[in-house]
Amino acid sequence: MDYKDLANLIFPEAKDISYYEEKYPERNLGEGAIVTRFAPSPTGFVHIGHLFQALVARKVAKQTGGVFFLRIEDTDQKREVENAITGIINSLRDFDINFDEGMVDEKNEKGIYGPYKQSERKEIYQSYAKYLLEQGKAYPCFCTPEELEEIRAKQEAAKIRTGYYGVWAKYRTFPLNEAMEKIKNGEKYIIRFKSMGNEEKKVKHHDLIRGNIDFPENDQDIVIIKSDGLPTYHFAHAVDDHLMRTNLVVRGDEWLSSLPLHIDLFRSLGFKMPKYAHISPIMKDDNGNKRKISKRKDPEAAVSYYHEEGIPEEAVKEYLFNIANSNFESWRRANKEASLDNFTLALNKMSVSGALFDMVKLLDISKTVISKYTAEEVYKACINWAERYNIELKELLEKDSEYAKKVLGIERGNIKPRKDIAKWSDVFNSISYMYDEEFCIEKYQFQKIDSKEEIQKIITKYLEKYFSYTDDKQTWFDKIKDLAEEMGYARETKQYKSEPEKYKGHVGDISMVLRVAITGRQNTPDLYEIMQVLGEERTKQRLITCIEKI
Ligand code: GLU
Repeated sequence: MDYKDLANLIFPEAKDISYYEEKYPERNLGEGAIVTRFAPSPTGFVHIGHLFQALVARKVAKQTGGVFFLRIEDTDQKREVENAITGIINSLRDFDINFDEGMVDEKNEKGIYGPYKQSERKEIYQSYAKYLLEQGKAYPCFCTPEELEEIRAKQEAAKIRTGYYGVWAKYRTFPLNEAMEKIKNGEKYIIRFKSMGNEEKKVKHHDLIRGNIDFPENDQDIVIIKSDGLPTYHFAHAVDDHLMRTNLVVRGDEWLSSLPLHIDLFRSLGFKMPKYAHISPIMKDDNGNKRKISKRKDPEAAVSYYHEEGIPEEAVKEYLFNIANSNFESWRRANKEASLDNFTLALNKMSVSGALFDMVKLLDISKTVISKYTAEEVYKACINWAERYNIELKELLEKDSEYAKKVLGIERGNIKPRKDIAKWSDVFNSISYMYDEEFCIEKYQFQKIDSKEEIQKIITKYLEKYFSYTDDKQTWFDKIKDLAEEMGYARETKQYKSEPEKYKGHVGDISMVLRVAITGRQNTPDLYEIMQVLGEERTKQRLITCIEKI
């Protein structure tokens, strides 16, 4: 009786691995071309960390003329959620992350290295498990959960490493004929890897993000095929990335500690190791403590959050590049209009400790991104967003689309464009005062000039003497200066600052009165443009209302 008999008993139908080795040939790509993948489990939740990983992986593949594919890791069938694959694909597509190969929806795929869904690769894993069994590099294990628990308890009591290894690996040296007997009797078993490693020895690894690392060798006889016939992550990763001819694995650093095991597996399987880049998680400052951004605690951990808030995907991407490479910011400053495709991402410049997520910075980037949109683009994006998330805004904008575009176009296209919108969910609030039905002031909040009489006098004088709708911007402002002077305020801020005792205030204080009267707000884009869009009658009416209501 030998290993072959055992292998044949367990997997009588499994093909010889040479079949798969030929079926999935080496890829014929240029020098340095990176083949990498995004390999999520279809749990129905796309985490910002996943998006980050996918963005980085796709970038390195693209910038080297390589291949980026989507593999669905659904071997833990308890965690599966309906339509999760489509959900993943759609959320990434929103960020322009497309795949060259892999799943395209729940059932279909493209590419010749598939199936790209692990649950459909059962036969492949079994062939490779059989291959290991045949060489005595894997074995069936009949331990019950209770027995495993007992082993663990003993190890804990003896204060030694827990796990299934060395002398603790009960079925590692179990006689073949007895194992076969048990199988024939229908006893339940799983397949374990027979590790060749020695915990006392070191294995070296060069990670493309983390640099050189030494680990103790793996000596755990981990499970490779579970009782449901499906592989564990570790085994599936080795087989899949080998057969899909991945040459760089970009993944979360929670897998770093499994690397010695993966090295052990690749060696025993006779596979060439891919390179690895272990990405640190995105962190969050929680009252001075740095912790991983969490699905449970932080709404911004979900990629859907950005969609719901209406933060343009472009801004999120731009922000993620910022945290991926610290030199991105200076690149962007020097290449303001350049496409992200022109930036070269360096894995060795990525943070090892985990970049801190900074919402203020993201919103700031978003403001800049939106400031470059034309009124037409803002209008379209707002409608798109509002359709799903704010019907009130959609109706407001669509009621008079020409007017809406004028409102959204205020201070757009200038050298210093308007930067007050960070997300589409801000828009309603930032433009509502441009609509009479939304403009209803209970109490005007003025600034420096807040005496009712003074305000009434300023506005009355303005209406009587200086208000003209047809003035160009310069003349308009000169007239406000004239008004300031007439009312005892300095024409220029400078003037006021050098001799404050001579004046009641300066021209800025006068403008503020007009701004609050016309818009109900202290902070708005350019007042001249606002008046132009509101039109003569409405502006006048608002000024009069203010005199009456204040
Ligand atoms: N399915 C694994 C995860 O979601 C993938 C890790 C990998 O990329 O290899 O963490």
